[in-house]
This record gives sequence, C-alpha cells and structure tokens, in this order.
Amino acid sequence: MSQKPNNLSSFKQLEHLPRVQLAHLPTPIDALPNLSRNLGGPELFIKRDDQTGLATGGNKARKLEFSLAEALEAGADTVITGGSTQSNHARQTAAAAARCGLKAHTVLYTPDGQPPQAFTGNVLLMHLLGAVIHWTTEHAPYAETIAQVEADLLAQGKRPYVVPYGGSNPTGMMGYVAAMAEFAAQIETTGPFDAVVFATSSGGTQAGMLLGAHLAGLPSNTQLLGISVDKPADALAAWIATLANAGAEKLHVDWRIDASDVAVNDHYLGGGYAVVGEPEREAVYMLAQQEGILLDPVYTGRTFAGLIDLIRRGTFTSAQRVLYWHTGGSAALFAYADALV
Ligand SMILES: *Cc1c(COP(=O)(O)O)cnc(C)c1O
Repeated sequence: MSQKPNNLSSFKQLEHLPRVQLAHLPTPIDALPNLSRNLGGPELFIKRDDQTGLATGGNKARKLEFSLAEALEAGADTVITGGSTQSNHARQTAAAAARCGLKAHTVLYTPDGQPPQAFTGNVLLMHLLGAVIHWTTEHAPYAETIAQVEADLLAQGKRPYVVPYGGSNPTGMMGYVAAMAEFAAQIETTGPFDAVVFATSSGGTQAGMLLGAHLAGLPSNTQLLGISVDKPADALAAWIATLANAGAEKLHVDWRIDASDVAVNDHYLGGGYAVVGEPEREAVYMLAQQEGILLDPVYTGRTFAGLIDLIRRGTFTSAQRVLYWHTGGSAALFAYADALV
C-alpha cells in the first residue's frame, strides 16, 4: 500500500469542509487468530478505532475533527456537549477542546442530577481535561440543559458552540465518511470482508460509514451491520437513514438510502443502557484473555457479545471474513469494576 495519508483518508467531496487533525490515522486492522480458532470461524479481524488518541481513543475522535473545525471557523471559544455519566463522547470532546484551545462544558446525566460518588473512568478524565461538568437528570439528547448552559455562557459574553450528543449530526458523521476512504485503501492490502460489525447508538458512525461506503465504491456484498446498544432497530435505522441522507445533501452527492437498507440488529439490548450482564462480561473477558484487547462494558462489550452470539448461531461460514470495528470506550472499564469482577 502506498503511503499517501492525505489521499488515503479523504474524498474529494470532503475537501471543502473544515477539518482539524486530531486523530491518529489510519487505525490498524489486526487479525484475531485465537478467537477465530476458538470460535471455529469465521476469520475474525478488528479495526482499532479504540486507538485514535484523544485521551484514550474512540470513535468520537474522527467526528470531532469536523465538529471542532466548524467551532473554530465559527469563532467559538467554548464547546458544549452532553452525554451519559460515563460518556466517551464527552471525554473526547473535552480532550479535543483542550487541544484546540477551547473551554469544554459537558452536560452529564446521573439519576439524581448530583455528581457521582466517585470520580472515576471518563468522569475523572473529563475533570483532568479541564471540562466544566453540569450534572442533570435530563435524558439524551440533553437538549434543555445544553440550551440552558448555552444561554448562561452567552450572557457571560462567551461564544459557545454546541456539539450534539454523540457528535451525530451531518458535520460529525463526516468523520466516518472519511474513515471509509481509509478503510477502502486498507482492504487493498488485507482483502475484502464479508461483514463489518460495530456498535451503533446515536447513529453518526453508521450513517457516515454508509455514505462513505458509497463514495468509496465498497463492494456491495460487504454488509455494514450495526448492533444497537440501546435503541429499537426500526427507529434507529430510520434516524440513521435520515442522517446519512442529510450528509449526502451536505456534500452535494446524488445518493439516498432508505431505512430498509440500514442493517441494525437490536437483539442484544440486555438489561438496558449501561447495564452489564453475563454476555457483556463474557465478551470483555474473551477479548482480554484471548487477544489482549480491552473492550468497554457499555458499547463494545455488548456488541462483541452480539457478534459472538451470531457466530454461535451459525450466521457466518467458517470461511467468511468478519471485521469488528472497535469504537473504543475502555476508559469506562474502571467505573464498572464492581460489575465486571
Ligand atoms: C458513542 C459510541 C458508540 C456509538 O457510536 P454512534 O455514532 O453514537 O452510533 C460506540 N462505541 C463507543 C465506545 C462509543 O463511545
């Protein structure tokens, strides 16, 4: 593979969009030989977007290259975003803001709107990264609390820029449009995959992948399968199609996708968002002990458990090649020690 990073990581349709370089790219694709053998196939691979940088990595780094560039271009001095208590997105936004010289305000959910007992995992990291944390009982997308924080900052003469929860809007999703240029270049060397499996929740990752796969001319027999962490498949697929189509419009690309062509599996919602059960535990221990790779308890543990179940049910032949796209989150492990040990 030729070493032309600029050509590898973008499409000409993206060139006019502002972008700041924040992520360590391209992320590697590694084989999972032990797991492939022990599960009896398919041949498993992993793409390491848990290694993108920005205070321990994750999929939000790619999105923030576009979101924070837009904030800088708008002349913002502050970014606001929201998330769950252990939000990876809010942690990476705080890191990206620090790097770009912006102040970060994060709106985080707790059941009683009070700070958690212990500052651990992503909460500790956000604190270290200098984010001002606003605790709320409001659920995703945290719109009212974010609007309140924005109004307060405006009244103080600040210039805030709001990154929506998960970074999933037509700007943030461009990180995963660009990721498919990177991926298409990598498969020239690795060979193609029959399926790409990943965690999906606020939808920007999958929407970007779908639009990017179209732009890259990815083989249409490569299934892009999002395993839902917390939402029913029909509603999430509809939202992802809406977002992907808004992204295509933003890039003036003549392509639209229907919700029925967005593959979302919602069979692995377990006990609800961030409830760690036996499947999540098994997946976290399997990857750690058979491959030396850390998953997270909320997103990748749950969805890798889904992939293991699909394999055990015979969804893939032993000759097929399946890539799990690791979206990060291992910083949250420390906050779930009680549920994992
Ligand atoms: C946010 C997140 C996801 C989900 O990505 P979306 O773009 O919100 O669908 C998956 N894995 C991890 C670790 C995340 O933090």
